[in-house]
Amino acid sequence: MITRSDSQSHIVPAATWQQALAKAFSRPEDLLMALGLDPGLSDAARQGMQQFAFRVPRGFAARMRHGDPDDPLLRQVLPVAAENEQSPGYIADPVGDLQRMATPGLLHKYAGRALLVATGACAIHCRYCFRRHFPYAEAGLSGRQLDQALAWLEADRSIREIILSGGDPLSLTDQRLAALVDKLGAIRHLRRLRIHSRSAITLPERITPELLGLLAGWRGPVVLVVHVNHANELDHTVAEAMTALRQSGVTLLNQSVLLRGVNDSVAALAELSESLADHGIQPYYLHLLDPVAGAAHFDVDETRARGLVGELRRHLPGYLVPTLAREIPGEQAKRIIAP
Ligand SMILES: *Cc1c(COP(=O)(O)O)cnc(C)c1O
Ligand code: SF4
Repeated sequence: MITRSDSQSHIVPAATWQQALAKAFSRPEDLLMALGLDPGLSDAARQGMQQFAFRVPRGFAARMRHGDPDDPLLRQVLPVAAENEQSPGYIADPVGDLQRMATPGLLHKYAGRALLVATGACAIHCRYCFRRHFPYAEAGLSGRQLDQALAWLEADRSIREIILSGGDPLSLTDQRLAALVDKLGAIRHLRRLRIHSRSAITLPERITPELLGLLAGWRGPVVLVVHVNHANELDHTVAEAMTALRQSGVTLLNQSVLLRGVNDSVAALAELSESLADHGIQPYYLHLLDPVAGAAHFDVDETRARGLVGELRRHLPGYLVPTLAREIPGEQAKRIIAP
């Protein structure tokens, strides 16, 4: 149950999230120790993190089951040696981002929408991330490039929705976000502001009163697409953050990735949807894994994925069944696989 008093207790000083982030686990051995797991697993983790660093906020780790090496939250973040194996078809840029840059850091793939890679930073590092090899240093957004992106947006009146993504756009400070959102607000043909962020889940301290004020103050609809893969990610700290966001007028959607060993069962997916509904979050996409180098061990094949979603239809109201989708470079929209 999410009660009004829960949301009112969510008043935290703005600096708290940065402190929480600074205390995140950055060494696998520390997380394994906290979970009472064999520290021997950290050798494989050390090998696996050569290409993509390890990072897990303590609040997210607290939702993992003690002593369970197969915990679905742990599996999303603990590096494994298999990340160094090469698999056919698994590449650095599986969704063709680099071919679709309108200006550096601004992606334009689909009609009416443009996506800003606002930062490369994230509160958590998900091993299956399709941007785990993204060249943020060259293709990310900084000072002069932001001006270039804004000028492009200003000139293209067909863009009605701006999506802030990354990395995680909520890794920016409230001050920097406010400045960015102000500039976007000045482009009058942008009707909607959409934010793709996992921070509200992995670091709910990030949902500060300043951020809520900023979102409530945008002149049009604001949509926050969060990223939850398993019901265990949703605890009371997330519930408070979600309530506060909804009370600020933000529409909450969820995107998940279908991940082997994390959520590839009817029971896990059904409970995820039920729990999202409890938190006032509407399931949106269930993505098939993008074939990014280092993530092949998470793959669930398309036939099984279709079967899982077909089965979900028999357990849930239609509006709680996410759309199974895959991004195919060069297509006009994400390809819908099921239902
Ligand atoms: C996924 C994506 C979108 C949003 O697609 P929707 O189907 O509207 O959710 C927009 N731009 C880019 C570059 C994307 O990758
Ligand atoms: S939070 Fe999102 S962008 Fe960041 S590592 Fe995870 S999946 Fe990738």
